[in-house]
Amino acid sequence: MRFKILLVLAVLAAVFSGCSAKEPENILWERNPSEHWINGKNGEKLNVGEHELDEESFCKICGCEIVYQVDGVITVSNYDEKGNPVRVTNFAFQGKSFDDYITEYKYDENGGILYSETFENGRLCETFEKTGETVQKDYYYIDGSHHLSITYPGYLGDTIISQWYSYDPEGNVEYEEYTENLLDKNGEIYLNRTTSIHYPTETKVVSEANALGHPLSVEKYDLDGNLIDNYDYAYEYGEENLIVYEKIIHQGKLYKEHFLKVITQGEGLVTQPCKEITYHETGHYVIEYDENGNITAETHYDSDGNIIE
Ligand SMILES: [Zn+2]
Repeated sequence: MRFKILLVLAVLAAVFSGCSAKEPENILWERNPSEHWINGKNGEKLNVGEHELDEESFCKICGCEIVYQVDGVITVSNYDEKGNPVRVTNFAFQGKSFDDYITEYKYDENGGILYSETFENGRLCETFEKTGETVQKDYYYIDGSHHLSITYPGYLGDTIISQWYSYDPEGNVEYEEYTENLLDKNGEIYLNRTTSIHYPTETKVVSEANALGHPLSVEKYDLDGNLIDNYDYAYEYGEENLIVYEKIIHQGKLYKEHFLKVITQGEGLVTQPCKEITYHETGHYVIEYDENGNITAETHYDSDGNIIE
């Protein structure tokens, strides 16, 4: 039954989108991991045949691609002439279809995607729309909630701006995010600045991160735009950009220092703590570690540097 509905959808889509690049034979053929057929008017299977796979796992008859995933799932995909997937079906181990995605495309004259709609088991789940350099993606979930993402590449010349909105099933905004990725001369991101607002409390958080994604600052604002809390961070890096020193400043005061070292573990490098210092109003607290990363000493100092315990 599901196949019939999907087939109808696919045929309707082919009829309605005049510039669709879908090949009719790809849509007409129904398929499972082992065979292909055409559904007859009374639901009977016509032209049933086993797939004849070429060396790249594409069937020479129905055009589908068969991929065996590591988890036992078999993915059967059909592509249009531009190489974009028009139907992707995942079959569970027993061969029963458990999710089926159909995507329709509208292309510009250069073959770029202007618009696409993806249906998951017949339900619209994702749209993509490109207007000039702006890309909008909408994601629709089964509970009625919705995410919207807008990206403006090169909008300010050296900054990529994107927006993200989450809606509840009633269509109210639950969360919104405004992201600026600042690019250097090589087009690499060197600073990420994100402003997020959580509703209904309208708590606003502005954070900045460096090229490695490590936070540089986090600021929280109240409803009236007053700064209510903030953290600043500084780092020193060792081999493979692993953090060997981290400093956290809370509301302008030194709050924590972490000293780490890079060690070899298995095939790769990891960091191991050497010393942590936590500062408070009347002193500081030091934790020291041995060569194996085990705690060897915990010492509490007062504000004059005398050991308390
Ligand atoms: Zn086939």
